[in-house]
Amino acid sequence: MLRVDRIWTGARIATLDPARPGLGIIESAALATRGGRIAWIGPTAEMPVFNAPERIDLEGRWVTPGLTDCHTHLVYAGNRAHEFELRLAGASYEAIARAGGGILSTVKATRAATEAELVEAALPRLDALIAEGVTGIEIKSGYGLDTDTEARQLRAARALGSLRPVTVATTFLGAHALPTEAEGDKDGYIARLCAQTLPAIAAEGLADAVDAFMEHIAFDGAQTARVFEVAKRLGLPVRLHADQLSNLGGAKLAARYGALSADHLEHTDEEGAAAMARAGTMAVLLPGAFYFIRETKLPPVELFRKHGVKIALATDSNPGSSPLTSLLLAMNMGATLFRLTVDEIIAGVTREAARALGWLGETGTLEVGKWCDLAIWDVERLAELPYRMGFNPLHKRVWRGQ
Ligand SMILES: [Zn+2]
Repeated sequence: MLRVDRIWTGARIATLDPARPGLGIIESAALATRGGRIAWIGPTAEMPVFNAPERIDLEGRWVTPGLTDCHTHLVYAGNRAHEFELRLAGASYEAIARAGGGILSTVKATRAATEAELVEAALPRLDALIAEGVTGIEIKSGYGLDTDTEARQLRAARALGSLRPVTVATTFLGAHALPTEAEGDKDGYIARLCAQTLPAIAAEGLADAVDAFMEHIAFDGAQTARVFEVAKRLGLPVRLHADQLSNLGGAKLAARYGALSADHLEHTDEEGAAAMARAGTMAVLLPGAFYFIRETKLPPVELFRKHGVKIALATDSNPGSSPLTSLLLAMNMGATLFRLTVDEIIAGVTREAARALGWLGETGTLEVGKWCDLAIWDVERLAELPYRMGFNPLHKRVWRGQ
């Protein structure tokens, strides 16, 4: 008799297995785990006889793959609530910037924080996501903008993964903004980043990928391409904050470098969407930022569907434009603001989010051999997940079989 560690029965499972139609649903299903991986999955009636020390009857609850938040800036110090308050009281962006606000205020606070302080500040945010069934998360740097602080942010992100039962992917985002000391010299900053910071980060194995913010208020296409060339040489995959506030051709540039994903994409045109489809570059949509900065231009979801660009959904959790630590609320916004379908939303925080991180071989769907990362829900139908606002129907979360 085959021995397994644990069996769940009486479940309705959305496997997200692409070999099955829709969300890959199996009714009256069972799942067995062994050594943290899925040992068996299928209809309970077809389950072989297992020797299992633990059997759990889920009484008809829904099971999905554990959720993945594939775009966050979770590690930073301080917050920007005061800036929010000033803006609501009528202060202009210029006045706030003059008072030391904006992204550079987060850079200042993050540079002053130790690794332990960064971890301590990020843990409640991570715990909020975990409480909603998140089993995997991507965390970017980008509030250091110097080698030491960028490395410290990424070490803090790695530390979070050892302190909590969650899988962490780290992304170096040194090309996020221009630090005060480099004022007026974007090319010089990018040159230093390419010659010193990024190679140092890669040598220490701190980053799983490299990202950049390509926008008028950040870096242009040529500067972004320089960063991507170095990433390529170092063997690191790339992703891009693209076409959020204007169309600088970010989607096309991301596609040209075979990026794992291009993110935001409110201003992406058809050429950009088609290039992404050809390159297999995914769209990561971030409705939290769209909502918080009261953006009005919608990402071209129809074009992504038309060209077959795969879509993921994430919180973009960050102190400036998306202080959001609820992936469930991001799912609701994906429906209400971007008109994504329920199937697109569920896939967008499971299978497609895992694909955006290059994890799909290991997690993101419920198939034999993958990590047993599960979210078990107290809902009658999966549409309840994006339908509700501010309500968490998670029954249990399982990370690597536990
Ligand atoms: Zn972002």
